[in-house]
Amino acid sequence: CIFGAMNFETIVAVRKLLAKPQKIVIVPHKNPDGDAIGSTLGLWHYLKKMGQDAVVVVPNDYPKFLKWMPGSGDILNFERENAQARSKINGATLIFTLDFNHLGRIGQMEKILEEANVPFVMIDHHQAPSEYADIMYSDVNMSSTCEMVYNFIEAVDGGTDGITTEIANCLYTGIMTDTGSFKFRSTTGRTHRVVADLIDKGAENTEIHHRVYDTNTPARLHLLGCALKNMVILEKYSTAYITLSQEELDAHDFQKGDTEGFVNYGLTLEGIRFAVIFIENHEEGIIKISFRSIGDFSVNEFARKHFEGGGHNNAAGGRSSLSLTETVARFESLLPNYQELLKP
Ligand code: 5GP
Ligand code: MN
Repeated sequence: CIFGAMNFETIVAVRKLLAKPQKIVIVPHKNPDGDAIGSTLGLWHYLKKMGQDAVVVVPNDYPKFLKWMPGSGDILNFERENAQARSKINGATLIFTLDFNHLGRIGQMEKILEEANVPFVMIDHHQAPSEYADIMYSDVNMSSTCEMVYNFIEAVDGGTDGITTEIANCLYTGIMTDTGSFKFRSTTGRTHRVVADLIDKGAENTEIHHRVYDTNTPARLHLLGCALKNMVILEKYSTAYITLSQEELDAHDFQKGDTEGFVNYGLTLEGIRFAVIFIENHEEGIIKISFRSIGDFSVNEFARKHFEGGGHNNAAGGRSSLSLTETVARFESLLPNYQELLKP
């Protein structure tokens, strides 16, 4: 094991693949977040610099506050640029899948990737990875896929000198967003050392925080106000949940990414260890749910068991096909089973 990261066989196998010119497609999960975009673009810059033909294909659009990232303009959107994206995937000789653990997480792209008969490399930190990839670099203890891409480059290159300012900016962004600005439990000494090195290599840390987090519109702040007003606190279960109906979203000119981070407000209440947000989505006909916890209560298990989802111990997501009211009622009816686990 080198750097506590990738094992030797994995490194050898990757080096062998990259020793030849390849046509590479890099894919993150649907509704890509900072870690998904940061890791795919970070890897993309690295592979391009190496002389490889590479392209990032996202299943669908991502928030505006990530579009400043270097290389963002070269990303193909499978939904919007479907023909071009399909032709890249059909012509690929190597596919990297980043920041997700099974092909069900890429929505409409699932079928075409399942049919692609080329080597797959997975880089991911989600629990219970499925075994579709020929080369798997999967580590649930990692803060972020971006930290793993740093390890990947270090291992494949035999050092980090090849990390450019562009790569540093991309990887910094994903580590920052996936660790809640370096505060989640997944943040290790190693995470900080990686981040320190990225700053030394030119990552504009202050500017990145500003570009990602200081992007509110008045409408979004009002939507946050609405979400906070809707918050229900269940002290008995150390739980706080928020609901947002489609009507409320529409009334506040909802844009993709606007509700990012809302769920975390529940955890800022003293004594609250489990926070949830239910967001109605008429277009998809579902309630999208985000779960967060502090401490040992595994929201990954909870989401997996009850809401067709998963994720990490302290951050997970899921969905429900019931109405918003029915979903919340079902959620509340589950809590008594977890009263012991949720005890302070
Ligand atoms: P978020 O609540 O921010 O959408 O997601 C939190 C974490 O859970 C992320 O790591 C995300 O990838 C994962 N996640 C979100 N929704 C789902 C889902 O429906 N299924 C699975 N397996 N993971 C999810
Ligand atoms: Mn991630």
